[in-house]
Amino acid sequence: MRPIQMVDLKLQYGKIKGEVDAALHEVLDSCAFINGKPVTDFTNHLSAYLDVKHVIPCANGTDALQIAMMALGLEPGDEVITPSFTYVATTEVVALLRLKPVFVEVDTKTFCIDPIAIEKAITPKTKAIVPVHLYGQAAPMEEIMAIAKKHNLFVIEDTAQAIGGCYTFSNGVTKKLGAIGTIGTTSFFPSKNLGCYGDGGAIFTEDDTLAGKLKMIANHGQSRRYYHDVVGCNSRLDTIQAAILDIKLKKLDEYIDARRKAADYYDNAFAGHASVTVPFRAGYSRHVFHQYTLILEGVNRDKLHEFLASKNIPSMIYYPVPAHRQQMFANFGASSYQLPATDWLTERVISLPMHTELDEEQLTYISSSVLEFLNS
Ligand SMILES: *Cc1c(COP(=O)(O)O)cnc(C)c1O
Repeated sequence: MRPIQMVDLKLQYGKIKGEVDAALHEVLDSCAFINGKPVTDFTNHLSAYLDVKHVIPCANGTDALQIAMMALGLEPGDEVITPSFTYVATTEVVALLRLKPVFVEVDTKTFCIDPIAIEKAITPKTKAIVPVHLYGQAAPMEEIMAIAKKHNLFVIEDTAQAIGGCYTFSNGVTKKLGAIGTIGTTSFFPSKNLGCYGDGGAIFTEDDTLAGKLKMIANHGQSRRYYHDVVGCNSRLDTIQAAILDIKLKKLDEYIDARRKAADYYDNAFAGHASVTVPFRAGYSRHVFHQYTLILEGVNRDKLHEFLASKNIPSMIYYPVPAHRQQMFANFGASSYQLPATDWLTERVISLPMHTELDEEQLTYISSSVLEFLNS
């Protein structure tokens, strides 16, 4: 059996090596390392794939969130509602911009922000909601968009873990994640569902005016060369990464199918077991399984992790410390939050290997090893 990894980038690269290496050499020969043709090509292809009018490439998913919040013209002290149960980048940029992160609960079924908790957290200072499509599961966008409309709030979708996923509204309209909110953001970090071979990110919007601002902010606030209208930053997707992403974008749906197949295998193996809950499949979306995350009940998680490690099976806790328990947010009143559902999940989740290259032999070995521990 091939060694098992959380994410097997090497095997995936091996299958597209010819195409990727040729594209890399083309970039090297052109020496157009910044804003070369592949950047425009990839941006256009991603815009068509997501069916969103504007795609603004940038340096990483954290910058994408930061630039999105800068473009919305939020003032210091404005409140931004985010889940506490997410990767730190989502909440960190809020604080970095001197806005006030307001942490709310997630639904323990979907792992995504809870619309009821959002409504309760709204104050006259609330300006935006940042739903995170965690682990590849879509946040409940219909409810979130309705709340945003009612209270006149911006919605920034953090799509770092869910590119290629979609959401079907009750009127039958289906949209790609990232193309629903005021602005969508994503990351092309190597382990993400659409990953490059370094850092990368992108921002999406339907709004022409916002698109102009986003582009300007990502490029030193420049309106035309050497004329800088607003304070911005320097955030670019380089040509080499764009060339790789353009190749991988064509395979994204195939990659998602491979992840879903692995998830189906795990689901079947664990079906009906009293001490694990398999990932919820919301009827409104197509889960793209960035992670395959179980909820354990009455199981010693550390011991399970050690047991799997002893059998050369990696497993991870995403995330062991939620935002409202991070020292980083001590000055934002983080310690006064009561988020029992978030704490409950933090103590019980475990993620199993999930990537595009898992074969049946590996999946059988992983799931039977988990079951061996659970039944022992
Ligand atoms: C990875 C990730 C980010 C940040 O992306 P980077 O490209 O690493 O900056 C933001 N939000 C979530 C939910 C992520 O998983």
